[in-house]
Formats: sequence, C-alpha cells, structure tokens
Amino acid sequence: MQLKKDIVMSGIRPTGFLHLGNYFGAVRNYVRMQEEYQCFFMVADLHSLTTHPDTQDLRQHVSRVIAENIACGLDPDKVALYCQSHVRETAELYLYLNMLAYMGELEKTTTFKDKARLQPDNVNAGLLTYPVLMTADIILHRASLVPVGKDQEQHLEMARNFVKRFNHRYGEVFPEPAAFNFGEDLLKVPSLDGSGKMSKSENQLATLYLADDDEMIRKKVMKSKTDSGPLSPGTPMPDFIENLFLLMKLVSAPEVIDHFKGTYQACTIRYGDMKKQLAEDMVAFIGPIRERAERIRNDSSYLRQVMEQGAEKARASARETMLAVREAMGLNYY
Ligand code: ADP
Repeated sequence: MQLKKDIVMSGIRPTGFLHLGNYFGAVRNYVRMQEEYQCFFMVADLHSLTTHPDTQDLRQHVSRVIAENIACGLDPDKVALYCQSHVRETAELYLYLNMLAYMGELEKTTTFKDKARLQPDNVNAGLLTYPVLMTADIILHRASLVPVGKDQEQHLEMARNFVKRFNHRYGEVFPEPAAFNFGEDLLKVPSLDGSGKMSKSENQLATLYLADDDEMIRKKVMKSKTDSGPLSPGTPMPDFIENLFLLMKLVSAPEVIDHFKGTYQACTIRYGDMKKQLAEDMVAFIGPIRERAERIRNDSSYLRQVMEQGAEKARASARETMLAVREAMGLNYY
C-alpha cells in the first residue's frame, strides 16, 4: 500500500518582480518539496487586490510569477501551480471562516497594522481579513505544511487558531497547518540598505530581483550600506554588516565567507572587496534564473497550458474538501 503524502501549500502575490527573499524564503523550499510531497503552489492574485486594486498590470505580473517559479526549478507536472482566482471554492471557504474570526485578533495582526499605516486611505476589510483568506487557501487542500518566510509566522499561528475553532465547532475536517523550512529556522532575507526585508513593492533599490540584469545587481550591491570597518578586535558587527554576511551565506562559497570573516576579526576588512565578491556571486546566481524566466515568459501558449493544468488539479482538491466542509457544517440539505 502506498502511504498518503503530506500536503503542502503556499502562495506568492503577483504585486511585482520576484526577489531574493521570495526565492530563499519560499521558492527554494517549493522546489525541494515537490519531490516528496503533494504540492499546491498558488499565484495569490486575489490577495494582491488588498494593496494593489488597480488590475492593469495584473496579467503581466501573474505570467511573471509563474515563469519565475518554473525558472527556479518548479515542475508544473509534479505540482499544482495555479492562480488563486481560478478556484472559486476559495471564496466560499473564506466566507465560512470569516464567521470564526474576531475583529480584535484581526486588528492586532502586525501586517495589518503595517499596511494600514502605509495606505491610510484604503484600509479595506480585505486587508483586515487577509489572514482568513490565507487560511482558506491553505486548508482548501487540507495542507499541513506551509513553506514561507519569517514574515508569515504570525499568519500561520492565526490559521491554526481558525482551524482549531472550525474543528471544535463542526468536527475534525482540517489538519493544523505549520510553517515549514527544511530543518532550519524561518528565513528573513534583509534588504541592502540595512533596514527591513527585501520586498516586491517597497525598498526597490535595496532589493535584488530575479529579473535584475548583471549591471543592476552590481550597482545595487556596491551601494549597500557599510562603514569604515572595525577599529579593534572583538568589535561587535553592526546589523548592516551582519546582513551582508547573511546575503553572502546564501550565494557564496564557505571559504569566501571565512576569508572575509577572518579579515573582519583582524580589522583588515575592505568592504569594497567584499561587496565586489558578493556582487559577482549574485550575478552568477541570478543570471541563469533570469534568462530561463525570460524564455518562459515569452511563451504565452505554454503559460496558458500550465495555468489550465494547475487550475484543474487545484479545483479537484478544493471540490472534495468543500463537500466535507458542507457536510460537517450541516449545509447539505439535499
Ligand atoms: P512580498 O513581501 O515580496 O510581496 P509575498 O507577500 O508575496 O512577498 O510573499 C511570498 C513569499 O515570500 C512568502 O512565503 C514570504 O514569506 C516570502 N518572503 C517575502 N519576502 C521575504 C524576505 N525578505 N525574506 C524571506 N522570505 C520572504
């Protein structure tokens, strides 16, 4: 008998270009998980409406996210790679879950408070209930593992609470989902200006995108924040230098990192040399992904086929879950 595989679900919003944070926080894990698990990976186009109501660029961004995921190694034959809006059952489950979510807990969510501050003229109800929609996306496939970056930790905690409430009230339908990173802590890829995280729509000059050309990568890395270096051995590393080492750890060889760590400790470090090395290692890492993504993005009939195939797999799983949900809730009158 074949054992049932654990189910994995995660999503990325089509609000701009994918960046190194998306890759190391999320997509790298997607690619590793596709071999061992049953995976659902979604382009979260409905989520993007909470902050980006103008849909003019949406089609282009959706194609880009799909192409970049495939360029990073995701195989649409192995996983369900689909668009959120193609699975209508999401809206139904979102509605039921909204009845189990309380104003107080939604208002306390860090991302809600941050986004409300960023867009004071558009503090819409969708923004408030973002964690509810995210829960619907995950449990629609009865997923238990959710590969995400550190910024999503609180949302996952909320998802577990909503699931517990649902199961308690209507019966055990859903497993409790947990954030996942291969044997490590969840990751936050820092931005190059020494503050915050790399992000699709903020901090664009301090974020390395998978579509950046070689010159742009070099320019951004060379402009990253440094100081004149430590003056005496044992000087604690400032955050922005620690961030540079963190970025190096993602793309550079261990002996390269050891070399610069050694020169830091000896107070002989030349940040210009370190940044040049980091820039070249980033170019070598991002270049091939960018080129593959460009080729895929130009093949619109292939992209359409990927989307159709993904939507079909996601819908089949969603339909099955919703039958169980309606039955558990007593909404099956005939
Ligand atoms: P963004 O914040 O760039 O718009 P999304 O909200 O679409 O990204 O998140 C997509 C995935 O990428 C999520 O799993 C999120 O945790 C991860 N992610 C985004 N930014 C970072 C980052 N700087 N470091 C690590 N993971 C990140």
